[in-house]
Amino acid sequence: MPIVQKIDCAHCGAPIDFKPGEIVTTCRYCGFTQVIETGQPFTLAHSMFLNEYDDALVESRIREWMRSGFAKPGNLAKASKITERSLTYMPFWILGIEAFSSYKGVFERITPAVVKEGRIEKHYDWLVLARKATQFPTREYDVPLEGKVPYDFRKIEAFAKILNSEVERSEALEKAKQEIEAHHQFLAKQEVDKISEMQTKFELGDAVYLHAPIWFIVYEYKRETFQIILDGATGMVIKGDIPAAKFGLF
Ligand SMILES: [Zn+2]
Repeated sequence: MPIVQKIDCAHCGAPIDFKPGEIVTTCRYCGFTQVIETGQPFTLAHSMFLNEYDDALVESRIREWMRSGFAKPGNLAKASKITERSLTYMPFWILGIEAFSSYKGVFERITPAVVKEGRIEKHYDWLVLARKATQFPTREYDVPLEGKVPYDFRKIEAFAKILNSEVERSEALEKAKQEIEAHHQFLAKQEVDKISEMQTKFELGDAVYLHAPIWFIVYEYKRETFQIILDGATGMVIKGDIPAAKFGLF
């Protein structure tokens, strides 16, 4: 178990637990968000998505997911049992970034090979998980940005867990830039086979710190366990493990 440390909420005085590495914390009792090291208020916008799912809705949503799609065993919905479900408000940074790349490369799919140049210009609301060791399929999470509301601690269910941020804005931004650059390289590689030069410039827009309601579900099927990650705002399955279906004559 990691060591839990304590500070007092600078707004209401309630004790706040935090773990080493966490840098921004939100009070459970009054919603005040502060920087742990300084005790000063967090000055950037803090938003959230509202959770629209309860146990029963999660259950029916999961059954529906199990019944749909082709890659799943036919009896998945009937034969599996949900053994764990928990709601966690996960911290994210959403960074508005305009990215411009110009590249030069060699197109080798024709003979003789030719040198090609190109540009990629895109706007992103790039998502970065504000946790370090936590695994989360960030790229598969289609963030329901239109549902964003100011953070309101009264909207957080008593049974839910809230994770604090371990990543500062500047660090999130660096990560976003690297990921966007890699993404643009991937895009450029659709056009040329070898990239010889590539430059990317960024224009930074708004940064939003946000908590999103994420359900972590474990289900059992034929004595094996599988995980599903569900967006509590929209009911979308962000990622779901599927047992390998056995086809054949037996
Ligand atoms: Zn407080």
